[in-house]
Amino acid sequence: MKQLTCPIASIENYNDDTRRIILDLPEPVEFKAGQYLQMVLPEKKYPFSIASCPHVQDQLELHVRPTAGSADSDRVEALLDSATELTIEVPLGDCFLTAAPKNTLILMAASTGITQMKSIIEFMAPEGFSQPVYLYWGVLSDKDLYMAELCAQWQQRHDNFHVVPVVSEPDTTPEWQGRTGLVGDAVLEDFDDLTNVTVFVSGGPAMVYATLDAFVERGMPEENMSSDIFSYAPRPK
Ligand SMILES: Cc1cc2nc3c(=O)[nH]c(=O)nc-3n(C[C@H](O)[C@H](O)[C@H](O)COP(=O)(O)OP(=O)(O)OC[C@H]3O[C@@H](n4cnc5c(N)ncnc54)[C@H](O)[C@@H]3O)c2cc1C
Repeated sequence: MKQLTCPIASIENYNDDTRRIILDLPEPVEFKAGQYLQMVLPEKKYPFSIASCPHVQDQLELHVRPTAGSADSDRVEALLDSATELTIEVPLGDCFLTAAPKNTLILMAASTGITQMKSIIEFMAPEGFSQPVYLYWGVLSDKDLYMAELCAQWQQRHDNFHVVPVVSEPDTTPEWQGRTGLVGDAVLEDFDDLTNVTVFVSGGPAMVYATLDAFVERGMPEENMSSDIFSYAPRPK
């Protein structure tokens, strides 16, 4: 892991709240698809998944979404409003992919958890998908699907790639025609048998551990699931 100060090449808004940040790398950084970095602020370090894939050597991409009512998030947002460079520590995390799995891959993301999956998908895409890949993306409202167009492009380009957006508060978006409910439940509706799948999950601890329990009950060997949460926020014994 190294600490670097990186010029901000660009910051653009995906929608009302989520921002896409591109950092120029002053030197090459070795990382694996799915790893994260920490933004170093004077008082604290904040973890953010790397949205770009390791094939891109000269820049890193981040997606940052504010958390309402969080002083930490306010600090990060204020920095992004004015900063011309960011100090980061990179790489971190043991939830990554170094080769395509030999069975069905389920990528399950809540909200900006999609960033980690983007890195993994873009890492695998040049080789194509020899096994089916399912991306389940859970959001509150369809306006949170800020990468919907890119997901549709992946699905168009790759026969074996399927994206399933799932909206948990459809009352806020009455025109939404797609899947509704909790993203983990959507996977369970689609897969009767999870004995031979590889799963990556990105989201908060409650969602990740509820998913682990439900998938194990459906037959998934516990070791087939990876998540940053397992090391970042271990389940109390
Ligand atoms: C490994 C990791 C990666 C993250 N990546 C991003 C990201 O790409 N974009 C972003 O906007 N925020 C991400 N976050 C959340 C981000 O670090 C916080 O939003 C930020 O620190 C401000 O604090 P907070 O009060 O909003 O959230 P906190 O209360 O510090 O964190 C919110 C909770 O949600 C979980 N969480 C939220 N988003 C993610 C995510 N994408 N992946 C894994 N866990 C998540 C965290 O584990 C935490 O328990 C990530 C968090 C972690 C642990």
